[in-house]
Amino acid sequence: MSRFQFTTGEQLLKLCTDRQIKISQAALLRECELVNTDAAELVVLMQNIYQVMKESVAKGIVSTEPSTGGLIGKNSSKMYQYWQSGQAISSDLLAKAVAYALAVTEENARMGRIAACPTAGACGVVPGLLVALQEQLAIADSTIIEALYNTSAIGIIIATNASISGAEGGCQAEVGSASAMAAAAIVEILGGRPQMCLNAAAIALKNILGLVCDPVAGLVEVPCSKRNAMGVANALVAAEMTMAGIESFIPFDEVVEAMNSIGKALPSTLKETARGGLAVSKTAMKYNDRIKSKPNNK
Ligand code: SF4
Repeated sequence: MSRFQFTTGEQLLKLCTDRQIKISQAALLRECELVNTDAAELVVLMQNIYQVMKESVAKGIVSTEPSTGGLIGKNSSKMYQYWQSGQAISSDLLAKAVAYALAVTEENARMGRIAACPTAGACGVVPGLLVALQEQLAIADSTIIEALYNTSAIGIIIATNASISGAEGGCQAEVGSASAMAAAAIVEILGGRPQMCLNAAAIALKNILGLVCDPVAGLVEVPCSKRNAMGVANALVAAEMTMAGIESFIPFDEVVEAMNSIGKALPSTLKETARGGLAVSKTAMKYNDRIKSKPNNK
């Protein structure tokens, strides 16, 4: 009989309350039970994933190589230099996290190695925020690795009850899910209770409900990279509000339910088909024409 399985926020909270554990611990117990492995082994696997995240940040931030589609590649280094200049008016953490999120998405668009979190399209939000948070607040690796289990719990619930795929639910399912995952993880790192983590996830997700998936030329470059950067801000603000004691009026599970129905209601033109939204803007169409007229595309 499964003791640690959960598919909703409510079930997750009950598990946390009954056992007096954090969301990250509940997620780790669930995984141990599911794959019949001990926790130490799974923590090593998560360490490896975090290592990939850190490397994708480090590589991305120094590279100015164009992406495969040639649409992005230089923004993370620009943002990082801006952060280094001390001119950022938001906060050191936010400006650095934005640079890091851009870095990871640019690495992804160069076909570099990244950790999908929850997807490759939304790979910048969680690493961008967690790596920057670790550096700015001198947090131990073990705390971040634990927090990654928290992100997995949020991702599992969204994937089970809605979607984490842009092709299925629009960008709300990708950058929205990543924002919710990052927001919950930050709250746990800052000492927030499980209920507060779900609250932060709900606030972050609510803000992105309805966001469409409309990648230019079908490439995960524009608007994806900058959407990841905005996802960082979304997660951080949701976490800040939560830590200030603000609650989500709509509970997390109901937000996920709404996300699911909105995803189903979105037309196919706005679900990764590149047949609507920004993908058919004048500038996008000019780019498409340029690509088609390249000799190797004839
Ligand atoms: S626009 Fe589409 S492809 Fe790009 S990140 Fe969002 S969901 Fe992924």
